[in-house]
Amino acid sequence: MKRTSNASLKHLNSFAVEAQADQLLELESEQDLEWFTHQYRFDPSHDLILGAGSNILFAGDIDGTVVLNRITGKHIVTDSNDEVLIEACAGENWHQLVLWSLDQGLSGIENLSLIPGLAGAAPMQNIGAYGVELADTLDSVQALDLKSKELRLFKAEDCHFAYRNSRFKSSDAGRYLITRIRLRLQRNFTAKLAYAGIGEELQAMGIDVPTARQVSEAIIQLRERKLPDPKISGNAGSFFKNPVVNITTANLLKNEFSDLPVYPLNDRQAKLSAAWLIESCGWKGHCMGGAAVSDQHALVLINKDNATGNELLSLAEAIRESVQHRFAIELQTEPRIVQTL
Ligand SMILES: Cc1cc2nc3c(=O)[nH]c(=O)nc-3n(C[C@H](O)[C@H](O)[C@H](O)COP(=O)(O)OP(=O)(O)OC[C@H]3O[C@@H](n4cnc5c(N)ncnc54)[C@H](O)[C@@H]3O)c2cc1C
Repeated sequence: MKRTSNASLKHLNSFAVEAQADQLLELESEQDLEWFTHQYRFDPSHDLILGAGSNILFAGDIDGTVVLNRITGKHIVTDSNDEVLIEACAGENWHQLVLWSLDQGLSGIENLSLIPGLAGAAPMQNIGAYGVELADTLDSVQALDLKSKELRLFKAEDCHFAYRNSRFKSSDAGRYLITRIRLRLQRNFTAKLAYAGIGEELQAMGIDVPTARQVSEAIIQLRERKLPDPKISGNAGSFFKNPVVNITTANLLKNEFSDLPVYPLNDRQAKLSAAWLIESCGWKGHCMGGAAVSDQHALVLINKDNATGNELLSLAEAIRESVQHRFAIELQTEPRIVQTL
């Protein structure tokens, strides 16, 4: 276990904004987790669990401890005909886990290639991309209850997964340290190509009937082209969720703004493109202090020039207000905002 006092968090968040923590505690083994379970008193009002920091914005310092669960390990649990159950410790890199699953001849998470972050954070917001969500393959989550110190097992149906949400991000925020996840993957591959762009990318690669690995490669190429690289321009991917509205609201907006992308979810609700709403308010490429809206993708806020967390928050607030004013739609933030703890 590593402990560091008065640590900078700048290299531990993909926005690369400066923030300080009184202490960093890095759990590297099951013995460290054992010690943490029985000896450390976690206080959610001062302490914070951090993964790879790719879905968080620091707008203040942490007066307590930042706990990093870096325990790694992954294996096949059961392998019966088509369905294979795999388990990954929370410290595994998500994208490496996707590649490893492809190496084992397994499919199911290839559309989630290249999402930054660690496996332990994946259930937090039910990571999703290109028509697939973690919830589609997740079997269960093992987590330490930071209050009672008990290890709990949540089956998928108990995780309350929704679009970019779960019980861990909402009703139980700050209560659990996720330690392991289990996924149900397949040996027989069924491609999920309905989401816009994948079919075209595969066609451009000269592929008609893709393998799971080829779908992963197509998605990696698409993501590399469309999203700003956090190593060059600090960012946390999409800063806002796509708003979910009732069908009547969606139809009224569509009548007024015919090119607004609307994705029906069921017969009552539809999802709107937050990027379109933001772009049509003129924000794409706009700077405020060191913060900016990416000129590659209107949904991505970037640390353009040594931005502080508060500069990024002010820009987000200005965007939210203008979208509210023009479309009467309230944008919700996707990353966790951490003000002084
Ligand atoms: C360029 C870019 C592209 C992205 N694209 C996508 C995308 O397509 N789809 C998508 O869904 N997301 C996307 N994201 C967001 C991000 O990659 C995911 O949300 C990812 O799961 C965050 O993982 P992390 O380890 O970095 O979590 P962190 O940012 O470190 O933490 C996020 C939250 O999870 C909590 N947490 C982390 N680990 C644990 C744990 N072990 N136990 C309990 N709580 C924990 C933290 O306290 C925090 O509340 C993108 C981000 C970037 C930078």
